[in-house]
Formats: sequence, structure tokens, C-alpha cells
Amino acid sequence: MSGSLLVDNIGELVTNGAGEGPLGIRRKAAVLVEEGRVVWVGPSAYAPAADHHVDAGGAAVLPGFVDSHAHLVFAGDRAAEFAARMAGQPYTGGGIRTTVGATRAATDEELRATVRRLRGEALRQGTTTMEIKSGYGLTVADEARSLRIAAETSTETTFLGAHVVPAEYADRPDDYVGLVCGPMLAAAAPYAKWIDVFCERGAFDVDHARAILACGQAAGLGVRLHANQLGPGPGVQLGVELDAASVDHCTHLSDADVAALADTAHGDGSGTRTVATLLPGAEFSTRSPYPDARRLLDAGVTVALATDCNPGSSYTSSMPFCVALAVREMRMTPAEAVWAATAGGARALRRDDIGVVTPGARADLVVLDAPSYLHLAYRPGVPLIRQVIRNGVPQ
Ligand SMILES: [Zn+2]
Repeated sequence: MSGSLLVDNIGELVTNGAGEGPLGIRRKAAVLVEEGRVVWVGPSAYAPAADHHVDAGGAAVLPGFVDSHAHLVFAGDRAAEFAARMAGQPYTGGGIRTTVGATRAATDEELRATVRRLRGEALRQGTTTMEIKSGYGLTVADEARSLRIAAETSTETTFLGAHVVPAEYADRPDDYVGLVCGPMLAAAAPYAKWIDVFCERGAFDVDHARAILACGQAAGLGVRLHANQLGPGPGVQLGVELDAASVDHCTHLSDADVAALADTAHGDGSGTRTVATLLPGAEFSTRSPYPDARRLLDAGVTVALATDCNPGSSYTSSMPFCVALAVREMRMTPAEAVWAATAGGARALRRDDIGVVTPGARADLVVLDAPSYLHLAYRPGVPLIRQVIRNGVPQ
């Protein structure tokens, strides 16, 4: 779309910048967009003229959601495993290998179609930035093609060759770590921005995780990791040690884990350098206790919310659903949850150009079918996303 775009008649604008309260709210506001960027935010009554126009009709407008944790490159589904779990079987993470088999057997076009379908589904629910991980290929060729396909859709791509030790390496995990750090990383790195490890009992222990993440760092990738999901463990403190942008899940934390995260505070009141990304869709779908968001927030830790969209433990692409769960089940206020799903996600990706509606930011906006952001938690399950604008373009 060429020319400028004015979104006006906004009843409640969440900026996550200057304005009222922690969300930087402005009322009776308008936003002017040029060349994909926000160039002006101010009172609707004084809005400048523009080439194109979206009338928000008095509704709420927020920054597009930033989903900083998703696994979209896979084949098949695990609905039967979900049903078995709901009938009482515990979740162990072992089902990942089922998806690995299906993914290896799929064609590029089948994988690409799944990524596009899920990315489209998320966009319609207001997600304008979505991180995408590999991790269901687990061979050099399959990890590289997973990332090549992910990179067609997102610049936030993550190499997760260390998702689980594949069956053919079950008796020799050291050899698999060597493969991940060597030829697999070399093939994946051109398409990846981040490296991630599933640091958990039954997946990768702390020494293996440290070795893999260090190799990724040496190859120029940023660090994030899956930590402390299924039980207490060393993952969160490893993430802090390696200056991870984010430690994800954080369901089982010790006081020392919380203190280590809090110690990464920038010192200027802007939060912590390592973000705790909470994924309540996983606890919902595995019927597990939720992480204690309140404890993290009260300690000053920056919290993000993400979907963990994947076919095994959290097959949702809906950030509004995660916001509603965070409020109802994790004792976050609606404002904290909306911040975590927008600006918090941006922090987890070390981005300052998204998750905010301020001059210079990417023009990613969501117009709600509601007068306030509060309705995202207050009206769970209701399709409240009226319009999405991404990169300044109405979708
Ligand atoms: Zn995950």
C-alpha cells in the first residue's frame, strides 16, 4: 500500500509508551502511519490528513501481539495423545518423537502449508510478530529445511535441534550433541537468529545444554531456552549465565531462580535483561499447575506471554486466549497480561521497534471489537479482533 494511513476515532489506545498507567493509554486518539512506521500519535480531533483512513469507531486499539515462542514447522497432529491425557495419562514430552517421524516424512510443500495456515490463523487473532522454531527434523537436512521454510515467514527464527534426542541416538546422547554443535548448527545458522535447547529431565541436561548454547553463541545466534517446565532444574540459571534473551516456561522455580532473573535488571527501572516467558497454553493443554506470574512480577522480573503453539502440548495460536488464561489462572492483572503479550514479547526478542505504538515503531496495530483492552480477558473465547494492520498494511 502506498501513501499514508490514518487510524482515528480510537476510544482507547494502548501505546505501551507515554500515557496513562502502565499501558500508556491515550483516549480519543489517532495514529498516523507512513511507509510502515508510526509517525504521529495524538488526539483524534487534531489528526493530520492522510491518503488512507481506518475509522476505529470508538473502539480500543493495541499494538499487534508479539508471540515469541512457537513451533510451527511440523506435520501431523496429536489429538489422540491429547485425548489420552485428558483421560488421565501424564505428559512427559516423549510424544515429540511422534511428530519428528511425521515431519521427516513430509514434503517441503506440506510443511510450508502448515506454517502458512498457522501463521494466518495467528494473524487473524492479532499476532503481528511470531517467532518460529525448528526442532521436529533432528537431522542435518531436516533441521536446515525447517528453518529455511520458517525464514520465509518470519525473521525471528530459532534453531532447536536440541528439542529431544532422536530415537536413533537414544543410547549415545553425546554423539547427538556433537552433531547438533557441528554439522547441524552449520547448516541451520544461515536461516536462524536464535538457538534454543529443551533443558529438562528426559531431554538435555545442563552440561549438554550449556555446550550447545555456547556453540550457537559462537556462531552468532542469540540464546533462549526451554527451562523448568516439568520440574525444578538448572535451566533458568543457565539462561541467566549465558545472557539469554528469554527463559521460557518457568513453571517450577526456586527462590534462587527468581533472584537470578531479578539480578539481570537493567537498573533504570525498565525491567530485566533476561525475560521470563510464560506459556499458559501448555499448562492448560497438559492439565498442569500454572507458573506463578505474581511471584516473578513482584520480584521485578520482566514477563512475556506466548502461545508455545505446537501439536503436542499447546495447539493454540491464540494470544487473546493466553491473555485470558494469564489473568484468570496466573493472577496477572489484565494490564500486566496485555503488556506481557505485546511489549513483553518484544523484550523477549530484544526488539524495541514492535509491541509499542510510538513514533518510529513498526505500524502493527490491532483494532478490537470492544471499547477496552479489558475485554480480552473479560470476554474469553470471543473473536474480538476486528482488524489487523501489519507493517502499516490493513490485512
Ligand atoms: Zn516450546
